[in-house]
Amino acid sequence: MATGEMGSVAATGRGCAVCQEGAYTGGQPRFVVSTSPVDLLYRCDLCRTWWLDNGRALRPMTDDEARDRFPAQVSAD
Ligand SMILES: [Zn+2]
Repeated sequence: MATGEMGSVAATGRGCAVCQEGAYTGGQPRFVVSTSPVDLLYRCDLCRTWWLDNGRALRPMTDDEARDRFPAQVSAD
């Protein structure tokens, strides 16, 4: 396959190269708030993508999902 790093990032539909990489290595996305031990909100400072850490894995969310899970934080943004 000719798919490079940028291609694999685009294929996920959310996030940018920085936070996709940072989800594993640190830096981005940046921790914002936790409403429970399994509801940790993160956000990329570069592409503004919301991320969810459910205690096991960090994954990007759509804006709608982020607003549903963290209404106070996301609606105020
Ligand atoms: Zn990003």
